[in-house]
Amino acid sequence: MDIDLLDVHIYPDLKTKSSIIGKEVNKLLNIRRIPLGPIQTNCYIVSNKEKECLIIDPGEQGHDLIKQIKNANLKPIAILLTHAHFDHIGAVDDVRKEFAVDMYMHKKESAWLSDPQLNGSGKYAQLPDYVVAPAEHFLAPGEAQVIGNFTFDVLHTPGHSPGSISFLFDNKQIAIVGDTLFKRSIGRTDLAGGNSQLLLESIHKQLLSLDEETMVYPGHDEPTTIGAEIDGNPFLNGF
Ligand SMILES: [Zn+2]
Ligand SMILES: [Zn+2]
Repeated sequence: MDIDLLDVHIYPDLKTKSSIIGKEVNKLLNIRRIPLGPIQTNCYIVSNKEKECLIIDPGEQGHDLIKQIKNANLKPIAILLTHAHFDHIGAVDDVRKEFAVDMYMHKKESAWLSDPQLNGSGKYAQLPDYVVAPAEHFLAPGEAQVIGNFTFDVLHTPGHSPGSISFLFDNKQIAIVGDTLFKRSIGRTDLAGGNSQLLLESIHKQLLSLDEETMVYPGHDEPTTIGAEIDGNPFLNGF
């Protein structure tokens, strides 16, 4: 099966300036959203003008994903996980092997990679057990991360799962949030380590405090903006 590039966006309106290590650089980020697997988990390919790319949540269909990346002439430099549910990790080993790149995640879910009960695949009789090799690196929220020519922030946004993290790119104008916040919805909290109070705190304190124009790229379904969710998300009223 061939996969579609549903959304290819160039941000931010082609050029902004930001200061990295005292040097003014023009940034040009391209976000590709590729829904993969049985529950159409969004894999995001974030690429820069050097054609480097980060692969976020390669959930399934490794063969198709690898083909898309090669067709776009991109050079993967890392895999990032928003969290370790099975639908976000299924193609990690295929992609890691093909491109010889490292994988980064929050330490709290490191054991989930090899535990089908924790990553959720063990709950469904129709699914195989998902087991992925260990991460090479753990991301520490709060510090700016530099991988290749990318600089980004990591927010710890627990609630959907204990090690859920969100990635902020491009002066915090782009937020890749995993299953924490969705267009007009929020993440479920009935899975291992889920906590609805923590989820609402993560969303309100860490995400809704971003600029209203910030683009939000969730783990499922369509992108949205912070402003649209403040105004129209029925799960966030009256918190
Ligand atoms: Zn999830
Ligand atoms: Zn998911």
